[in-house]
Amino acid sequence: MQRILIVEDEREMVRGLRDILEFEGYEVITAESGREGLQAVTKREPDCIILDLMLPDINGYQVCEEIRRQKRDTPIIMLTAKAQDYDKIRGLEVGADDYMTKPFSVGEFLARVKAILRRTSRSIEDMDVIRIGPSLVDVKHFRVRRGKKEHSLSHYEVELFKLLYENLNQPVSRDEILDRIWGTESYPTNRTVDNFIVKLRRKIEDDYKDPKHILTIYGVGYKLSP
Ligand code: CA
Repeated sequence: MQRILIVEDEREMVRGLRDILEFEGYEVITAESGREGLQAVTKREPDCIILDLMLPDINGYQVCEEIRRQKRDTPIIMLTAKAQDYDKIRGLEVGADDYMTKPFSVGEFLARVKAILRRTSRSIEDMDVIRIGPSLVDVKHFRVRRGKKEHSLSHYEVELFKLLYENLNQPVSRDEILDRIWGTESYPTNRTVDNFIVKLRRKIEDDYKDPKHILTIYGVGYKLSP
């Protein structure tokens, strides 16, 4: 599911946009100020940002500049009540990808969002990238990206991850993991599974000692939660 961040302080506007986007199947996260928006970009890594120009603290131009300064290429659609060309040019100069002047229609808004996601997400789909919490797991190329860190994955780590992902939100027993991944070729133990779980957690979780996504289900096994 693609995640869209709305940075806007007008609650009515946020509610309207959220409803439209959620109805279309997007995950929506919101921020009411520029600084809160920047935090959400870092922590939640949205696929697209709807950014209002007028915000209570730092304005939309500054938010946009800061996102680009951090070398993030997340697509940004700027919203503004001003229609002057000056604003439009400035928005695009600081790194926005598109620009909409309020008021706009639902149809136009959705068309712009979909167009921008189509332009930017094709390469991600080609790479078979799966988002788990703070991490992007690229099972095709055996690597994980979390913020600015990148780790490579071993064959068994990828197989284990894929098995957990196939059973997303459902526990998978250690026996099933051993059977499906190691089969009868070798003689691994439950300890082997646990070791590989720790390896995956170190790469995917913010804090591997306090996992939020690769969870231990006591007496059963493990569960992956997005
Ligand atoms: Ca505003």
